[in-house]
Amino acid sequence: MTALLEVTDLRVLLHTGRQPVRAVDGLSLAIHPGETFALLGESGSGKSITALSIMRLLPDAGEIVHGSVRLNGDELLTLPESAMRKVRGNRIGMIFQEPMLSLNPVMTTGAQIGEVLLQHSGLRGAALQIRILELMRQVGIPDPARRMAEYPFQFSGGMKQRVMIAMALAGKPELLIADEPTTALDVTIQAQVLDLMRGLQQQENMAVLLITHDLGVVAEMAHRVAVMYAGQIIETADRERFFQSPAHPYSHKLFAALPTRKKRDQGLIVIPGNVPALSKVFTGCRFADRCDRAWEKCHQIIPPWVETAPQHHVRCHLYSDDSTERSPQSRLQS
Ligand code: SF4
Ligand code: MG
Repeated sequence: MTALLEVTDLRVLLHTGRQPVRAVDGLSLAIHPGETFALLGESGSGKSITALSIMRLLPDAGEIVHGSVRLNGDELLTLPESAMRKVRGNRIGMIFQEPMLSLNPVMTTGAQIGEVLLQHSGLRGAALQIRILELMRQVGIPDPARRMAEYPFQFSGGMKQRVMIAMALAGKPELLIADEPTTALDVTIQAQVLDLMRGLQQQENMAVLLITHDLGVVAEMAHRVAVMYAGQIIETADRERFFQSPAHPYSHKLFAALPTRKKRDQGLIVIPGNVPALSKVFTGCRFADRCDRAWEKCHQIIPPWVETAPQHHVRCHLYSDDSTERSPQSRLQS
């Protein structure tokens, strides 16, 4: 199957301090039509920067220095900005974590959905009004005829996120990028919004790039998972395989840190140590300082990208053929 989105060897620098930060460092992924692909990681791992790079919406300090982003074969990184503007909304929709920040406070929600429709469908007048109502109904906003005349402050967090989803769907995108779409919501509303997204995704056969730090969200939504750490993908597998036999020591820690109810409400993954500074040049594995299975080699040699099973890849010396010091099994069982 040909990929809908194909990102190849993407490298992104952030020029924020004295040293440029390699926020994304050689990331490749492919997402197929109708597939939900989860990018999982702690904050600061480069997930959001990856999403913003695909959309070409990086902040000024961000610079894509290498790589390719193809949507149905079309290279996005070299498109003129005017053409890229048409891609956003029309072919790629986006939902962010904080709907409060993304909605215009002085415009009614109906007008905001209408604005996106106007841009992408050319609908006018009564046809436009009908489509706004349809979209609001589709995302489960009750009494849309009344609510379309209301302002964002009159909506709850969950309802605001539905307005954002309606806006993202207005252009009938082939790909939806959802960056922590439910993180700001309470648990019950989270579940409703995830249900809604899954339903819409199936109806529209839309592909979804889902960015999250939450294994529960991955379990519920994803067909495939890629774990991101310090600017790189360190493991990728389909969901079943990933939950049955995660391979990378960092993935193991994610499972071990699987939030209790209380921690979940705080949205935390707690793993001792910090993601390393991305301004430094790595000579070995980026996880070595936090990995309890690390040995000399891990600090000296950058681990290769290894296929441990069909469609299951991992970046770790435990799984490389020349890992003769100790076998992966004995080390994993130690
Ligand atoms: Fe741990 Fe070494 Fe594997 Fe890195 S390469 S995750 S340090 S075992
Ligand atoms: Mg983020």
